[in-house]
Amino acid sequence: MRKIVQLPPRVAERIAAGEVVERPASVVKELVENAVDAGATDIAIGLRKGGKDLIRVQDDGAGIPADELPLAVARYATSKISGIEDLWRVTTLGFRGEALASIGQVAELAITSGTGGGEGAAITVKGGVASGVRPAACPRGTIVEVRDLFFTVPARRKFLKQDAAEFGRAAEWVTRIALSTPRAGFTLEHDGKLVWRIAPDATLAERMSMLFGPEAGAKLLTVEGGGAIEVRGAVARPEVWRRDRRAINFFVNGRHVRDPMLNQALEEGFRGCMVPGRFPVAVLGVLIDPERIDVNVHPAKAEIRFANGSEVFQAVVRAVRAALARLGPRAIEAAVPRADAAALPMAPARAGRAEPSPRSAAAPDGLPARTAPFRDAADFAPRSGPVPFAPPAPPAAEAPAAPARVLQVARMYLVREGTEGIEIVDQHALHEKMLFLAIRARLAEGPLPAQELFFPVPVRLRPEEAAEVEERRDALETCGLRVEIIGPDTAMLRSVPAFGETGDPERLLREVLEDLRAGGGGAAEAMAARLACHLAVRAGRTLSAGEAGDLLGRADGMEEVDTCPHGRPTKLVLGFAELRKHFDRP
Ligand code: ADP
Ligand code: MG
Repeated sequence: MRKIVQLPPRVAERIAAGEVVERPASVVKELVENAVDAGATDIAIGLRKGGKDLIRVQDDGAGIPADELPLAVARYATSKISGIEDLWRVTTLGFRGEALASIGQVAELAITSGTGGGEGAAITVKGGVASGVRPAACPRGTIVEVRDLFFTVPARRKFLKQDAAEFGRAAEWVTRIALSTPRAGFTLEHDGKLVWRIAPDATLAERMSMLFGPEAGAKLLTVEGGGAIEVRGAVARPEVWRRDRRAINFFVNGRHVRDPMLNQALEEGFRGCMVPGRFPVAVLGVLIDPERIDVNVHPAKAEIRFANGSEVFQAVVRAVRAALARLGPRAIEAAVPRADAAALPMAPARAGRAEPSPRSAAAPDGLPARTAPFRDAADFAPRSGPVPFAPPAPPAAEAPAAPARVLQVARMYLVREGTEGIEIVDQHALHEKMLFLAIRARLAEGPLPAQELFFPVPVRLRPEEAAEVEERRDALETCGLRVEIIGPDTAMLRSVPAFGETGDPERLLREVLEDLRAGGGGAAEAMAARLACHLAVRAGRTLSAGEAGDLLGRADGMEEVDTCPHGRPTKLVLGFAELRKHFDRP
């Protein structure tokens, strides 16, 4: 080992620059974003040799005043934010003030700019060393030229791919920005040849035609989802599809982001309309209060973090479904083979009582496999139908002929007349014990029946948690929890145990993981207790008369339910004799 030394600033800056500038495409992205931030309406992008020799971006934006040029190329110099609190209100694409400085570290950077008043000015930076500012004729706008990329970091230059591949990546960025910047025109050239041009007034459909092909542009559905989180843009009809996700574009407050959770939401919206393995063409903007997202989590700003991911997820699913719903069932059938269409419902699945699907008939214990339990009172009414909290059915003979009237008190206790007196039951404790017995019995036989969530729940995981989920996948599935890792720190919880009600599936997942960690997975009894506690109806939850009667009716046929799994009583009986005594009756 060598001694610890402080890196010379020059070395540290080069390392930092490497985070922002990975390849020509990163330069193109930063320069075009700067042009957009400067309010340009016409932006011309030209590359030579995939951008390795030259990248040139010219815009007609506000320009940089001559005296600010040295600052523009300095590190952490930006005109877009002035303090850390501004990070929560960023509406520009740039804000880190690093791009030009980083590019100047690893290439030869020349900026010529004019603000419209008087002559323009120019500055050059080579390998981190800036020249003085000199006057140069320039109309309003800015021309940035980047030559000889990575001449200071030959190792990185070696990793670059063929010119065509590098140009392709750069073009993808220009495409994304062209899609998300309505009132700007774009021209893209490679090795002196025009690749495409989009006029400033082109509509989104015209832009999509140009960038994804005329078929996509001609078969668009407008997406418009209102609410606290707006989702706007367009998706191509399901018969237009791709083999990968490259034609999926999400913009959050105008910023292009790669986010597995958003992709998942789009695919969820398309479920039933598109065969698995095919991917939609989509350009969707998510508009959200800037204070609800963190844009500063990635050096190239390609990722963001949402304060409330599941709300965003649901807003996207809803908006996409609403757009597709306008197609009507026939168009969807045409796009998907019948079998798929049948298996994957288009409309939000209502509690399954009205239309029993083949799946729910086959589900174990008569539990509806795809429905959310404990949603509305009607789910509880029919004794013969699928009953959401269903321990093994009680012997029919012991069930009372007509359920006694039940009163809920303090949203916690159920009171009714029993044979020996007034019965007062703790709703949570009783349900918990019933679930405990049922779950323990099921666990002895094998995995618990799972119930798919209609809206899978995105869960942020730390890397070690993600590893844990992988490791304990079988144990989780035994508990009815199916989890899919979809990104470095995101998982989708796709199912929960088909017992009781899951108010907070994410918490359930975390609790079960905790238990598995503590118990090593062997303790079925402890697991049953944990699941029962989580899935049982809470104290404080208002029960309809139907639900309350159903709960007590089911318990009547069961033994061992006088205490909860923790040993506390579930029931108090005020005996008739005791009452008589109290009221001094004979
Ligand atoms: P950032 O975009 O994060 O602020 P940059 O290093 O990309 O950082 O740019 C530094 C500053 O230079 C910007 O804040 C902006 O004021 C100015 N600038 C860069 N490019 C342009 C341009 N094309 N037009 C006008 N101003 C620009
Ligand atoms: Mg910038």
